[in-house]
Amino acid sequence: MEANTQTTEPKEKLNFLEEIIEESIAKGEKRVQTRFPPEPNGYLHIGHAKSICINFGLAKKYGGKCNLRFDDTNPVKEDTEYVDSIKRDIQWLGFQWAEERYASDYFDQLYEWAVELIKKGLAYVDDQTQEEIRLTRGTISEPGKESPWRKRSVEENLDLFDRMRRGEFPDGAKVLRAKIDMAHPNMLFRDPIMYRIIHAEHHRTGNKWCIYPMYDYAHGQCDSIERITHSICTLEFDVHRPLYDWFIEALGIFPSHQYEFARLNLTYTMMSKRNLLKLVKEGAVMGWDDPRMPTICALRRKGYTPASVRAFAEMVGVAKRDNVIDLGKLEYCVREDLNKVAERRMAVLNPLKVVISNWEEGKVEMRKAVNNPEDPKAGMRDVPFSREIYIDRDDFMENPPKKYFRLSPGSEVRLRYSYLIKCEEVVKDAEGNVVELRCTYDPMSGEGSSSDGRRVKGVIHWVSAPHAVKAEVRLFNPLFRTEDPFDTSAGQESWEYNLNPDSMVKVTGYLEPSLKDAPIGHTYQFERVGYFCPDTDTTAGHPVFNRTVTLKDSWAKINK
Ligand code: ATP
Ligand code: MG
Repeated sequence: MEANTQTTEPKEKLNFLEEIIEESIAKGEKRVQTRFPPEPNGYLHIGHAKSICINFGLAKKYGGKCNLRFDDTNPVKEDTEYVDSIKRDIQWLGFQWAEERYASDYFDQLYEWAVELIKKGLAYVDDQTQEEIRLTRGTISEPGKESPWRKRSVEENLDLFDRMRRGEFPDGAKVLRAKIDMAHPNMLFRDPIMYRIIHAEHHRTGNKWCIYPMYDYAHGQCDSIERITHSICTLEFDVHRPLYDWFIEALGIFPSHQYEFARLNLTYTMMSKRNLLKLVKEGAVMGWDDPRMPTICALRRKGYTPASVRAFAEMVGVAKRDNVIDLGKLEYCVREDLNKVAERRMAVLNPLKVVISNWEEGKVEMRKAVNNPEDPKAGMRDVPFSREIYIDRDDFMENPPKKYFRLSPGSEVRLRYSYLIKCEEVVKDAEGNVVELRCTYDPMSGEGSSSDGRRVKGVIHWVSAPHAVKAEVRLFNPLFRTEDPFDTSAGQESWEYNLNPDSMVKVTGYLEPSLKDAPIGHTYQFERVGYFCPDTDTTAGHPVFNRTVTLKDSWAKINK
């Protein structure tokens, strides 16, 4: 018999969350139930996309379920506009939740549990203001001061809490606090606030409630109600975990557990909804979906594909320590995906007119162009060729250096999918600027070769001038000039000073006619230029295109 011929399957490297789940499965856990818990107080950003990919991705991988739960415990900041956008963004990313839930669905249950904690002597009504409570919390080295109301009887607490709920007191007059330990080394345990009074209409419960639970009291209990097995959140919540466990234990309810991973940070990018809202309100951007924003709706408008965002989340992985990811990685992912799926088109963004003098006036010839060399199924299209075309100014040099293979006086170049042309004459205006080139074409060169077998190296793109679609083209650069938007080391008064004045440059582009009715949601490669898509600002007579990403990682080098 042969020696050990058994091969072990190559083991896939698990991230630490997968390890945790596989351990719990090994210990007998039968279900994997996760949730994605956004607060509907703004639009989701690329950091949330990562959290979505993790939560929905883990549930999918382990045959479990992922709920979408809106953490709607603060009526003042929340709105159904945000709820709708969040649902749309998750589905666009390619995920579907098992159940759509709201923390507000559980307000009754949370209230009952609070009453239970009061009865157990584990909660009390405090008449101090939130500010007074903050000031008496102590420091890491000093214990906090107990509230003068801490020793209220259970009966009094029950009565006051009931009256709080019934709206007898104005905002800020009272709070409900957990009675834990004012000298606890974890500051969050120093009698955390469970409920505050807010007389405001809630987007779902209307005016039913005027007391609202705090995050620490609500989150774990909501997880428990939904029997979440793995409550995954970002690292800054690790200090909250013991309190999360404390409430669950005190109430003796289903023991959900919390696990933390490092939040996503990106260079040149701001990631908190609060500050993004500020950008919108101050008019620094055109709105939440301005293509310069890091929001999911902005990435969609900018021409990103869902697959590219998922690939990015996969690429950056799940880390246990905070780090900052190079924005170039996100751009790399979208470039990779679009290279495979985007159809090619020709467009000239910096035009120079070329007149082909030996081409018959009025004659138009349809040239066959390949839609996507990476995808044979994408087929071919017709591109009109005529006597007057535009080429890119950068593809002509009057005094070229050696080894310049594009157009220059007396030289020849191949027009993509078309003929060889030779520059015979340079036309200038009174100031000496080149305004037009006169060229001749080689009628025998249409099928790829030349009339006498001579070799021409350069290939440039072009658009027939009379057929061109004129469009506003928006070239985007990072919204911030500094790698860290909050960098004030050069004496900036605030982060607003770091906004990049060139984050959006508008140019007029000349596009091949097949782009005339390009549908929103389609991204194309403009050959040799970059990836572009029609923008939602497009109107009947005024097409607008966005640059999704350049062909190469160019700005990173320029800006460094
Ligand atoms: P922001 O500070 O941007 O408003 P948030 O954490 O307050 O974000 P939530 O709506 O509470 O936003 O977040 C929903 C989920 O998304 C949470 O589990 C949160 O941990 C996660 N999340 C938020 N920002 C990031 C990020 N940058 N990277 C990864 N996950 C994130
Ligand atoms: Mg939040």
